[in-house]
Amino acid sequence: MKNCIFCKIRDRIIPKEFLYEDDDVMVFPDINPFKPIHILIIPKKHIEDFLDVDNNVLWGKLKNVVQKMVKKLKLENKGYRVVINGGGAQIIRHLHIHLVGPLGKDVTM
Ligand code: AMP
Ligand code: ZN
Repeated sequence: MKNCIFCKIRDRIIPKEFLYEDDDVMVFPDINPFKPIHILIIPKKHIEDFLDVDNNVLWGKLKNVVQKMVKKLKLENKGYRVVINGGGAQIIRHLHIHLVGPLGKDVTM
């Protein structure tokens, strides 16, 4: 998709250090972290909104990578949040899953 920042990152037009990559999924740090750990898990395919996800195999792969990253970053017992903004609340219209932590119980929505 033209003019999509995350497609440009996928295509290496915008250079980025990846924490994980396979044929379908890539992971990189958020440029403006909300907490010490703030990463984005994205499908390589340009999917505009969460409601456009119609492939359960891809959805399962994204879920597996989120779980893998929680463990890799040792957030299992430190508090973490997994977030998808959609329906126009997202700034970037290429599906991405935020993984943020560590978080205490005091953090509100
Ligand atoms: P959202 O509001 O869910 O669309 O969030 C988009 C996220 O992408 C924000 O947290 C931004 O900080 C992040 N972001 C924007 N541009 C880049 C970039 N070039 N590299 C990494 N993260 C980015
Ligand atoms: Zn895109």
